[in-house]
Amino acid sequence: MKKIVAWKSLPEDVLAYLQQHAQVVQVDPAQHDAFVAALRDADGGIGASVKITPAMLDGASRLKALSTVSVGFDQFDVDDLTRRGIVLAHTPDVLTESTADTVFSLILASARRVVELADWVKAGQWRASIGPAQFGLDVQGKTLGIVGLGRIGGAVARRAALGFNMNVLYTNRSANPHAERTYGARRVDLPELLANADFVCLQVPLTPQTKHMIGAAELRAMKKSAILINASRGATVDEAALIDALQNGTIHGAGLDVFDTEPLPADSPLLKLASVVALPHIGSATHETRHAMARNAAENLIAALDGTLAVNIVNRDVLAGSAGRDS
Ligand code: NAP
Repeated sequence: MKKIVAWKSLPEDVLAYLQQHAQVVQVDPAQHDAFVAALRDADGGIGASVKITPAMLDGASRLKALSTVSVGFDQFDVDDLTRRGIVLAHTPDVLTESTADTVFSLILASARRVVELADWVKAGQWRASIGPAQFGLDVQGKTLGIVGLGRIGGAVARRAALGFNMNVLYTNRSANPHAERTYGARRVDLPELLANADFVCLQVPLTPQTKHMIGAAELRAMKKSAILINASRGATVDEAALIDALQNGTIHGAGLDVFDTEPLPADSPLLKLASVVALPHIGSATHETRHAMARNAAENLIAALDGTLAVNIVNRDVLAGSAGRDS
């Protein structure tokens, strides 16, 4: 019987599904040596939110497939997996809408100061009619700049254009004709997007090319009234530069779901800024979506071990037996 290592707890029915096909060994990724030892005689692995380094896979000669319960795959060295002939599967699509909801929550909460003012009410500060000191900024009719208009960026663009009458600008390496046709999105280069957007929303994958793509210079290029929204990965933004920009009024505010270090350390300067809405990486975190992701990842893994997986493959080259992929 095949052996699968799970380094994330899975819903009962998903675990039962995996157990119909294989022996499942659940490991605590914090117990590093036991985790690596379990991988050594495994055929497959499933999990999320843990860096899987090439060194951890040395000696894992039976390993045929890894399945991440996420769409992002920055926790893996994809080229190394391809060289080893290991299929990497991920879960696009099932999380697109709930993640776009999180992005839009951040846009609305940052602009309308929802979290800050709800805390103000709870603290008993609402003692007279509110005035300009509690006013926020409009969202409807403004310009949204999406850096990385793919699946999630497209779902954000739909909300913005059709629901909030916003103008949508975007940067991608390639055009997104559907978003241009359906949401009136206009493809521009990054400097033009930064100069014109009221909300700059990052939805790129984390790659060597996108790491720190928003740094001090890019923040200076944004409008003083602009709000930065990041629900991609923390490292797409230079966090120290962002803290500086917020403290100095270079930009108006930020709505953040992701950070350099997660959980965000309690002494982070970001937590002292009223202009920041900080969420604990909840992008896809609804009961329904997380269940769908786990199910999808489990089905991907079993199909990959059977050699029948045709979708959701990150490193398609592995199937052709050729190495080297631009991830
Ligand atoms: P996707 O469909 O692949 O979209 C990514 C977009 O980024 C594509 O349009 C791509 O277009 C663009 N892009 C890639 N590299 C770029 C670069 N160097 N410069 C400019 N644009 C670039 O992925 P998705 O499903 O929307 O997910 C996007 C990311 O969101 C994931 O990788 C993950 O890290 C993050 N995410 C976070 C959460 C959360 O909990 N906060 C949840 C889900 C996903 P081109 O290829 O044409 O450049």
